[in-house]
Amino acid sequence: MDVGNAVVPRVVVVGSVNMDLVFRTPRMPAPGETITGDGFQQVPGGKGANQAVAAARQGAAVGFVGMIGNDSFGQMALESLGREGIATTHMTTDLSAASGVAGIFVDDHGENSIVLAPGANAVLSEAHVEAAAAAIGGADYLICQLESPIASVARAIAIAREHGVRVVFNPAPAAQLPDGLLASVDYLILNETEATQLTGLAVLDRASAAEAAAALLARGAGAVLLTMGAGGVLVATTGHERFVPAVKVKAVDTTAAGDTFVGALTVAIGRGLDLDDAVTQAQHAAALTVTRMGAQTSIPTRAELHEFIQ
Ligand code: ATP
Repeated sequence: MDVGNAVVPRVVVVGSVNMDLVFRTPRMPAPGETITGDGFQQVPGGKGANQAVAAARQGAAVGFVGMIGNDSFGQMALESLGREGIATTHMTTDLSAASGVAGIFVDDHGENSIVLAPGANAVLSEAHVEAAAAAIGGADYLICQLESPIASVARAIAIAREHGVRVVFNPAPAAQLPDGLLASVDYLILNETEATQLTGLAVLDRASAAEAAAALLARGAGAVLLTMGAGGVLVATTGHERFVPAVKVKAVDTTAAGDTFVGALTVAIGRGLDLDDAVTQAQHAAALTVTRMGAQTSIPTRAELHEFIQ
């Protein structure tokens, strides 16, 4: 497979940082029930941080714009981004909020259920984003999600647009989007649940996925990549639509599969691959992620991806 050129894409991520508290459990607890789990891990996570790590491990030069609390989880998250070589100049510490935390249950089938306490992520303001305008405007790609306030995300997208920076948007968790926002998005990456919530169309299979993707293209997105877990990805651009099956692997924990897909796809496009080849490469990266436990612990490096693809 073509792995692209040697360009180092410059990527800025505006998004969330969390500490993931991951419990392995034989099955999900019922309401009111206490069950004994099979293990526990504390892993830096958050969609923004995960996507930043995924892009950095694929070889991009990554900067991060986000908020942490004045606590040990925030410090650990900051240090872990630093260890990945991610620039944290635009990470701000909020003195009154706790760092974001996610309680994650992973069952024996690799399925997860998550409760998120956004903490400092919820106070990432438009002013914070504007303070990072030079970094955003100087990048090749902006990646953002919706674990941060939507007004701040919309501001980041507007700054990127003004500077000709391509926008990769993962609207997760789904929320009502400001009118016209999708017209500034080059690559819209979302799963079935998010596509259902954004379009009001029940996305259950390829046909309904194609219908939802068409509706999102009509709202202005440049390309829609609708991920369906082990079911593969629907890739839609105006007048062109195709389905790419997922890579067959044994799933251990799907946490961060979507985030790996976002980061790896961005870097693959940044290295000059066409969209279809970039999707194939991102699917391989995401498949590797589901074979391992945890969020950032499971995201592959470029070397691991190359070895897996061959
Ligand atoms: P998450 O929230 O768990 O990070 P998501 O719901 O945003 O993920 P998915 O559609 O579940 O995103 O997965 C993203 C990509 O990861 C898929 O398009 C696929 O390439 C890969 N993937 C996910 N689950 C599997 C699996 N069981 N086997 C192989 N690939 C998978």
